[in-house]
Amino acid sequence: GGPRTLPAVVGADLVVPTLRGPRTYAPLDHAASTPALVAVQDAVDVALRTYSSVHRGNGWASRVTSEWYEQAREEIGRFVGARDDDTVVVTRNTTDSLNLLAHCLPVGTTVVVFETEHHAALLPWEDRPGVTVSRLAVPRTVDGALDALDRALAAVSTPYALVVVAGASNVTGEVWPLERVVDTARAHGARVALDAAQLAPHRRVDLAATGVDWVALSGHKLYAPYGAGALVGRADWLDEATPYLRGGGATARVTPLATTWARGAARHEAGSPNVIGAVALAAACATVERHRDAVESHEQDLLDRLRDGLGAVPGVDTWTIFGDDPQVDRVGVVAFTVDRLDSALVSAVLSAEHGIGVRDGRFCAHVLVDDLLTDPWGDVPGTAVRASVGLAATVEHVERLVAAVAELAAHGPQRRWVRGEQGWVA
Ligand code: PMP
Repeated sequence: GGPRTLPAVVGADLVVPTLRGPRTYAPLDHAASTPALVAVQDAVDVALRTYSSVHRGNGWASRVTSEWYEQAREEIGRFVGARDDDTVVVTRNTTDSLNLLAHCLPVGTTVVVFETEHHAALLPWEDRPGVTVSRLAVPRTVDGALDALDRALAAVSTPYALVVVAGASNVTGEVWPLERVVDTARAHGARVALDAAQLAPHRRVDLAATGVDWVALSGHKLYAPYGAGALVGRADWLDEATPYLRGGGATARVTPLATTWARGAARHEAGSPNVIGAVALAAACATVERHRDAVESHEQDLLDRLRDGLGAVPGVDTWTIFGDDPQVDRVGVVAFTVDRLDSALVSAVLSAEHGIGVRDGRFCAHVLVDDLLTDPWGDVPGTAVRASVGLAATVEHVERLVAAVAELAAHGPQRRWVRGEQGWVA
């Protein structure tokens, strides 16, 4: 006997534990990483108390742990609307998932990818034997993006084509028109891989309903800890490829003469798996999905306040790929610049003078950020500040950010800041 089902999510599901640190800290950096939910902590706590080898023992604890690992896999599959015959590979994160997919591409594949993408979606396809990469320039409009995609796919002369697209931009929060991307891809017989690192925490992802072939996501952006992510999707290319990792667990049979590799997820998951990470990710998936409406309305409220607030501050510019296009949905991410101030100074001031955590820089999307904002006052490419909301953010945090940015734009920092070797210091 003993617990067979995944640790039930208990407590107030959507609560994020109070972050240690300054009591008034305002976490407006959800697009980078999110704090784990209490429900995730609880699931991890239970799983850590019944902790043994996965698929490598017949003892009671080993069987329970193995069962939990497989249930976590199913939960993750459900979360993204996986089809019955899809494979769910537990990976480290989105980067790992997309590198795994790149490893599995058949010889004779052209990957079509926009330069708007995060490096994790832009770069894994490079330098692979038999794989051609067709990079599309940063588009200005949705129609322009789809035209460029259509033309690029029409020009593909290899047997296979894969379109790689972000669900939502990690720089601007803009949500790509997924249905139209899939329709365009299908019209040319191409497959679609979705980088849902920024989409899955905010919107339902549904492979079966959208016809997307693969989706990649990261636990640490989805209210679970670091170290677990997933690649979910079509089995064929994954089963036909050589294993991503080689070792125990990935084999069906090994003799002195030959190795037969397993099929399915195990083929690419050699080595003892991250069962705690998978349980945590599954708990986060279940919790977010169960409260999808509450999550979305909380974030929409904060995003509206953020955009309206920053938009009304003289000297502040917010950055978008598709302009003000009303048909473009947005998740809770805003990239902005403050007049002539270095973005690194803006984020240092927000942190030190106002207790607000944001990110500045080029957000692992150098081509996009260079394209959007090349610094008109110098010869170095521009950088931006990124504020992003989620479950740990409140109206007070957003209001504090808007007030701090307004004060900074009007009067400059309160303290004297100098740029040292290590960046800005007060
Ligand atoms: N894609 C997007 C859109 C992202 O925002 C990120 C994380 N910033 C990644 C991929 C990579 O995620 P990870 O670092 O968890 O692999």
